[in-house]
Amino acid sequence: MSDDTDPTHSERDCLQRFMFEQLDIRGTLAHLDDAWAGVRDAQDYPEPVQRLLGEMLTATALLASIVKVKGTLTVQATGDGPLAAVMAECRDRSQLRGIARIRDEAAFTTDRVANGGPANGGPAKGGPAEGGPTEGTTALGKGLITITIRPEFGDRAGEAYQGIVPMDGSSLAEALEGYFVQSEQIPTRLWLAADAGRAAGMLIQALPQELARFDHAEHQREEDFGRISLLAGTVSASELKDLPGQQLLSRLFFEETLSLQRAEHLEFSCSCSHERTREALRAMPLDELEQIIEEDGDIRMTCQFCHAEYRFDGIDVAAVHAQASGQGPSGGEQLH
Ligand SMILES: [Zn+2]
Repeated sequence: MSDDTDPTHSERDCLQRFMFEQLDIRGTLAHLDDAWAGVRDAQDYPEPVQRLLGEMLTATALLASIVKVKGTLTVQATGDGPLAAVMAECRDRSQLRGIARIRDEAAFTTDRVANGGPANGGPAKGGPAEGGPTEGTTALGKGLITITIRPEFGDRAGEAYQGIVPMDGSSLAEALEGYFVQSEQIPTRLWLAADAGRAAGMLIQALPQELARFDHAEHQREEDFGRISLLAGTVSASELKDLPGQQLLSRLFFEETLSLQRAEHLEFSCSCSHERTREALRAMPLDELEQIIEEDGDIRMTCQFCHAEYRFDGIDVAAVHAQASGQGPSGGEQLH
C-alpha cells in the first residue's frame, strides 16, 4: 500500500465495532498509532517486549469495548522469566496507558531468536496473527494474566472484579480467549499484531445470551461462530495493521452482511497526578523522606508511564505525614 494515499490515515487511534447482521456475533477492530507511540516511547524496550506490550495495549482496548460496565479495565501478565510483567490499562473505553518491567535485561541483548519481528512495518512473519506465542510471551516464562475491571459509576463503583488465567506457552490472544471461556462462557476470539509503527487487533465474540437477537438453535450458533472464526483466522499481521477497517472486513467476510459502527477515538493518557503521587509518599517513613530533602532540597518522583515529574518539599512531606497520623495538614510552622 502506498503511503501518500494511505486510507488508514482517517482510522488512526480508533476502535470500530461491527455486527454480523444475520448472526448473533459482534466484533471490534482496533488501530493504535499515537496512543501506541505514547506507551512505546516511554521506555527503551527490547523489540520482543515492545511487541507484547503493543499487543497487550490493543487487547485491553478491545476487551474494554465489550465489557458491560464503564470504568477501568486492566490486563496484567506476570511471569518468572526475564520479562517480569507487562501491564496495560484502558479507562472510559478510550484512554490507554501501559508499561513493561524487565527482570533480566541481558536476556534480551543476547541470543536473539531468528524468528524476530517485522522490520519497518513489513509483514510480521511468525507474528501473533498466525496464532503462535511471541518471543515476548516466551520471555514471561510461566505466567499468569490478571484481568481487573473497576466500574466507575453505580452501586459497585471502585469495586474490582478480577479474573485470572494461566499463560504457559500460549500466545496472549489464546490466554485471553481462555479467560472468556472460563469466566464468561462466551465464545471469543482475538487476533493481535504490533510493531514499532502500529498496534492493531480484532475481536470476534458470540453475543451474550441477553443480547441475542435470533432464535437460533445452539448447534447453529456454534456452527456460525466456528465459520466466522475460521474466516477471521485467515487474517495476517500486516493486514490487521495496514488495511482500513471496511476493506479488511470485506476481505475476511465477503459473504456476510456487516454493519460497521462509527469509529471511537483512543488515546494515550496517564491518570497520574500530584495528589496520587503524594499518596505514595505517605507509605514511606518520615525520617527517610526528611533525609532526602536535607540532601537534595526536594523529593522528585517520576511517573513511569508518562515521565511526568512531581516535586515535593519539606512542607509537603510534613503535611502528608500529619494527615496520615490524623493531625490534619500542618500550618506553616515547618517552614525553613
Ligand atoms: Zn503518568
